[in-house]
Amino acid sequence: MSQIIDLRSDTITQPTKLMREAMMEAPLGDDVLGDDPTVHRLQERCAELFGKEAACFVPSGSMANQACIRALTSPGDEILAHENSHIYQYEAGGPAALSGCTFAFFRGERGFFTSEEVRQAIRPDDHHFPRSRLLVVENTNNRGGGSVWPLEQLADVTGTAHDLGLRCHLDGARIWNACEATGTSPDQWASHFDTVSACFSKGLGAPVGSIVVGDRKTINQIHRLRKMLGGAMRQSGFLAAAALHGIEHHRDRLADDHRRARRLAEALADCPDTNVDLDSIDTNIVYFDTGDRDAHRMQSAFDSMGVKLLALGPFRMRAVLSMAVDDEGLDHAIPVLLDGLGGGV
Ligand SMILES: *Cc1c(COP(=O)(O)O)cnc(C)c1O
Repeated sequence: MSQIIDLRSDTITQPTKLMREAMMEAPLGDDVLGDDPTVHRLQERCAELFGKEAACFVPSGSMANQACIRALTSPGDEILAHENSHIYQYEAGGPAALSGCTFAFFRGERGFFTSEEVRQAIRPDDHHFPRSRLLVVENTNNRGGGSVWPLEQLADVTGTAHDLGLRCHLDGARIWNACEATGTSPDQWASHFDTVSACFSKGLGAPVGSIVVGDRKTINQIHRLRKMLGGAMRQSGFLAAAALHGIEHHRDRLADDHRRARRLAEALADCPDTNVDLDSIDTNIVYFDTGDRDAHRMQSAFDSMGVKLLALGPFRMRAVLSMAVDDEGLDHAIPVLLDGLGGGV
């Protein structure tokens, strides 16, 4: 079978024909000199969507998060975040290396925590302790299985943190999925945060890029940090055009990814040899357990059968739906997965 179904991540999507056309037609300038009109248009559109004063286009979500952490903290400060958060697990130790920060962790289910836990985690003002400085919330929550925060609970944890003198950053790499799944708009989430990062290179299908939004003073700092980190780009209007196309044309289609994720999860739930929690499928990510079968071996076996997904634990796998997989692709992948998990490989 030559068809390859790629469920490794929503980062693997390639620009559509229309997106490529939008890129080719974009008016360009030199964004480091400040005159790329398409980058300006993207930044203005994002500031408007998130209800913030300003925005800065950066090459990746990791750079977006790390620049925000650097802007909102000083060395020796403590960041409050979930132990499974992307900023801690998957950004190469950036908070320690780039900002000199330590962490206090939350350990709740699916990446959530409560305002009471925030209150308990905040250090007393005593010279023995690091200064509790920044709360980071991830929505949707990647290692939490694409979970969407209840908006009220999110308002409660950030309200508590702000009242107690902390700043708040939203890692909104997949905020578009949270919006689509709950019928909310980006500004409804962003209003609770000092800074927000969001990715264009996942479900929205752009090849490269993320945005940081916040107040003008903070975004000016982010511009300087982007330069310092080597992320200021020249004719980046090419990339901004792809991001704009994704924002205007690919947000609605995330509902298809969510529907397909549920379909995949329901099929896996019928398989006695795997374990998937159907209640936990909020968006486009499906985590499942492989029983006593080695997940890395299963990954290689599925790979050789043309279905790519990732082992993310000794007995745990992840499938992510994106525009790279349509209904026919899923029709093809599901029997392969069920056969393999049922002992066929
Ligand atoms: C993908 C992702 C990022 C950013 O990843 P990059 O590959 O650096 O763009 C940040 N946070 C979360 C939760 C993510 O899933």
